Amino acid sequence: MNKKEELIYWAKRLYYRGMSPATSGNISVLDEDNKILISSSGSCLGDLAETDIVTIDFEGNQLSKGKKPSGEKYLHSAIYEARADVEAVIHSHCPYITAFAVAGVPIKDAILPEFVYQFGEIPVAKYATPSSFELVDNCLAYFKKGHNIVLMKNHGVVIAGADLRTCFMGLESVRAYAETYFGAMVLGGVQKLNAKQISGNKQT
Ligand SMILES: [Zn+2]
Repeated sequence: MNKKEELIYWAKRLYYRGMSPATSGNISVLDEDNKILISSSGSCLGDLAETDIVTIDFEGNQLSKGKKPSGEKYLHSAIYEARADVEAVIHSHCPYITAFAVAGVPIKDAILPEFVYQFGEIPVAKYATPSSFELVDNCLAYFKKGHNIVLMKNHGVVIAGADLRTCFMGLESVRAYAETYFGAMVLGGVQKLNAKQISGNKQT
């Protein structure tokens, strides 16, 4: 797969996994020339075609003709600019994950052992208008501190990684955590791992 085909492949998986409802969410990847390929404004990730992919640079300037880039283009370009290790970014309104962002609750409770090691705490960035520079700044502060995934208050989530597969799998894992969390609440409450269980100390 070339980079455009890769972008379409993961965009469709996001949509059909219910992590990018309707025309929400946007997805980007670096191409071979170190330019950013990003989904176009208003596109449905489930229907994404090559004509819906826009090329932009690290300042968010549009380089290709045709459709306009996603309104969150500066969020994407700023993360690539700030983090040399990042080659893919996904912004999603996944309802299960976004519920934490709406409640203003960081994802940090140690309820599943593998999750604790994989992500650490997922913070909530302060609310700002979608597509605004303020939103970019609020999220970027966490990416600069080394976080790879950030909840956006009353909005959604953004994840960055070495490739699209890493970003997708990360989101899917966080979604599974969120679903498990809600299920446990319905069944009587979330019982967290204790410090010994987290550290792997088997002594009682
Ligand atoms: Zn959004």
